[in-house]
Amino acid sequence: MTGPILILGGTTEARRLAERLEPARRVITSLAGRTGAPTALPGETRIGGFGGAAGLAAYLRSHRVAALIDATHPYAARMAANAAAAAEECRTPLLRYDRPAWQPKPGDKWVEFDDLTVLAAALPDLGRHALVTLGGADLSALSGARGTRLTLRAIDPPARLPDHPDLDVILDRGPFDLAGERALLSQRGIDVLVSRNAGGQATRAKLDAARDLGIPVALLRRPARPVTASATELEAVLRWIEDAAPIEGE
Ligand code: NAP
Repeated sequence: MTGPILILGGTTEARRLAERLEPARRVITSLAGRTGAPTALPGETRIGGFGGAAGLAAYLRSHRVAALIDATHPYAARMAANAAAAAEECRTPLLRYDRPAWQPKPGDKWVEFDDLTVLAAALPDLGRHALVTLGGADLSALSGARGTRLTLRAIDPPARLPDHPDLDVILDRGPFDLAGERALLSQRGIDVLVSRNAGGQATRAKLDAARDLGIPVALLRRPARPVTASATELEAVLRWIEDAAPIEGE
């Protein structure tokens, strides 16, 4: 019998893929377990870390995984590296299902950084009041952003807040629309936006609102990932799976 397709998930892309593969293929979606009560997914779900690349390799072998799809968030770099190492060790076909990065449009004032510490040090030169939208990133480096007031927006209360004298938190969950984002920036007197380049539509509106209002964006670049086969379109991912892990007997 053909082995299962293992999807490293926690993203919209992973959910859409599982919805398309099931029930014709056996699918296991793996979640890190960061969200308390994840919404149910088609197929099987397993939750929690594997124990590094070696743990993932052991899982690929013991479950006879036919193909591994890394559909994790663009900033989940450790999991991506573990996936590449484990797939190579086990010779399991691996595809990265990637979300294209946002590209600047005319009028955007993006200043890009590789490192949050460097971004924090530069922030006072960019604005006096920042809206910080960095998802589940470690925010401790923002302690260095003295001179800029910080308003953090997050889905869940951040586990650790930066040591900063002028900071508040808004709890809210996307998708966000342009009108709402413009209103938030204007009403709070935000004059710089801090963001990752997550890609996708759900949180794109803040960049459009910043451009409309002439507000600069301090953008944290995506972390480096291992070079693997990759696709950004669901149909291309499905075709790759058919080629890499055909159903036996077809
Ligand atoms: P990370 O730094 O790359 O991963 C840290 C560790 O968490 C990994 O080494 C692995 O532990 C475990 N892990 C990560 N993704 C996993 C998965 N899908 N299944 C099982 N274990 C996983 O990742 P992160 O930034 O903490 O993100 C964690 C998860 O949340 C990812 O699955 C990602 O798709 C999702 N997510 C993240 C963000 C974000 O802002 N980074 C946003 C939306 C969704 P072991 O080494 O023990 O295997």
